[in-house]
Amino acid sequence: MGSNEFFSEEELVYYSRQIVLKELGLQGQARLKDAHVCVAGLGGLGSPVSTQLASMGVGHLRIVDRDVVEMSNLQRQHLYGVDSVGYPKVEAAATRLERMNPYIAIEPMPLSITPGNAEKIISGMDLVVDCLDSMAPRYALNRACVKLGIPMIFGAVISNVGNATTIIPGETACLECFQGNVDDEALPSCAVAGVHPSVIGILASIQVSEVVRVLTGRPPNLADSLIFCDLEDLSFEKIKLAKVDNCPVCGTSPKSEPSPIRHEPVQEICGREGRRVYVFSPDDDMGLGLWALNGRLAALGYSIDVEARMGTTFSRGDVRGSVLSSGVTILEGVGDMEEAVRLHGVIHAE
Ligand SMILES: [Zn+2]
Repeated sequence: MGSNEFFSEEELVYYSRQIVLKELGLQGQARLKDAHVCVAGLGGLGSPVSTQLASMGVGHLRIVDRDVVEMSNLQRQHLYGVDSVGYPKVEAAATRLERMNPYIAIEPMPLSITPGNAEKIISGMDLVVDCLDSMAPRYALNRACVKLGIPMIFGAVISNVGNATTIIPGETACLECFQGNVDDEALPSCAVAGVHPSVIGILASIQVSEVVRVLTGRPPNLADSLIFCDLEDLSFEKIKLAKVDNCPVCGTSPKSEPSPIRHEPVQEICGREGRRVYVFSPDDDMGLGLWALNGRLAALGYSIDVEARMGTTFSRGDVRGSVLSSGVTILEGVGDMEEAVRLHGVIHAE
């Protein structure tokens, strides 16, 4: 096999073991190289999903996440090592993925996905992989995908169980046809319920297999069903899904407007050892100059623990925080919401 107009000699060797797959071939590989895919969320699912998509040769990967790597992520998020702790996930992931496959383009976005920015985040993409861990941004993503006609592969895991489905706008059930109006407060978090890396690996691989089918023009296996996997007895169940005519998001005869998605510019979440964590999520990428921010933090007596390209992690006493270049700010160890808002103002010199 010699190089051709699409692939260098090196790429042909890199992908040789999948090009021989009859369902992929050189033509399928070229389709992967041409594709633009957005991986939303770089945690449990996003870590193996982006790893597999990058090494399979998806030509343009846009990776979106608002988090900073923590020690408690490493048991399942194998994109990162102990030396990534305190770094923005998108930055650590981009470095790792680029090293893994230098023949593709990685576009990191250190952002929270909100109703205000979801369309912008996925614009220009051929497909979106939903690897998020809460409902509000999933709904924002689902609505944006339905509106722009972009397929979305949904996946979710917790404890020993997980599920996945493929959403093709206009053809299949959308997320809100089968799982509308779920409040994040009602759902268990990984910090409380835990999560087994094996169930993540299974669901992530199912998502990737669906991505490849859609990108190469083959019918997805989960277009009209939700696959449910329970690691405890290793059972797989396929639950039939149908597009709902009166779905407020994708239905042909909706009974009501879609209910507003809860988006709080400041959100209180449960962090390490039950400590309160406050997350500030601006709708737009603020494009902060981190150099000036670091100077301000130092003048305020904070020590800069990680000085990355796309974010800074700092601490003083019990207080620990991170600011991403987009403006996303995570504060931990502050007393209450009021105190967090005050500190946010001081840090950003508002
Ligand atoms: Zn729907």
